[in-house]
Amino acid sequence: MRKQIAAANWKMNCTLQQAEELLTKLSTATVNTTENKISIIGVPAPYLLLAKDKLKNKANFYIAAQNCYTKKSGAFTGEISAEMLHSMQITHVIIGHSERREYFNESNTTLAEKVNIALEYALTPIFCCGEALEIREANNQNSFVENQLKESLFHLSVEQILQVVIAYEPIWAIGTGKTASNEQAQEMHQHIRNVLANKYGKEIAEQISILYGGSVKGSNAADLFAQNDVDGGLVGGASLNAEEFTTIINAL
Ligand code: PEP
Repeated sequence: MRKQIAAANWKMNCTLQQAEELLTKLSTATVNTTENKISIIGVPAPYLLLAKDKLKNKANFYIAAQNCYTKKSGAFTGEISAEMLHSMQITHVIIGHSERREYFNESNTTLAEKVNIALEYALTPIFCCGEALEIREANNQNSFVENQLKESLFHLSVEQILQVVIAYEPIWAIGTGKTASNEQAQEMHQHIRNVLANKYGKEIAEQISILYGGSVKGSNAADLFAQNDVDGGLVGGASLNAEEFTTIINAL
């Protein structure tokens, strides 16, 4: 049975005091998580250990970094390595968010290297893919996303791909308040699962969690998550409000 996941991406938000407050609220929230219904909190790097500590008694909660570098260690000022995250017992890392692809020029090839090093250090990559508005308007979204998956993930073995979580995030829906319809989300998630099945076989594809991201809120989460191939969400803006994010977790 594949995992259902509510993942938060705080992006570059929150002062230390705000982070403490948000984490305290999450630590006392009433959530219906289980081993197969989990929550992952993607915080800015300076707050990783704080988040780990604050949520240490919260069952089925994990902490994610929002990025890691392609190299193990060395003269790469300002970067964060997978080895460091592993040594801090961080379990997940977001890789290939569209903001990193756009503002930090991360290519599919670079992202393949990041996925490799994350897996080498036992981190679960939450691999983001998704098309811009022009691509959707030209109806090229399926081949575009397929290419992102092929170029960054398809060198992985069966054992490795089973460690990856995929997040489909149409760029036109991120931070815009414009959510993909339930049908648009299901259609793309089914396409992603078919692409995975063609490469790795149906049985493997059925075990990979595919999250939807793009203006998920407390009010639309349940309908999105009810789609057959939508296994939860990667949530930006709404994850900065503990009550709203709790509603999203409980919509799994
Ligand atoms: C995101 O940053 O991954 C995201 C989906 O943002 P938002 O929920 O704010 O659209």
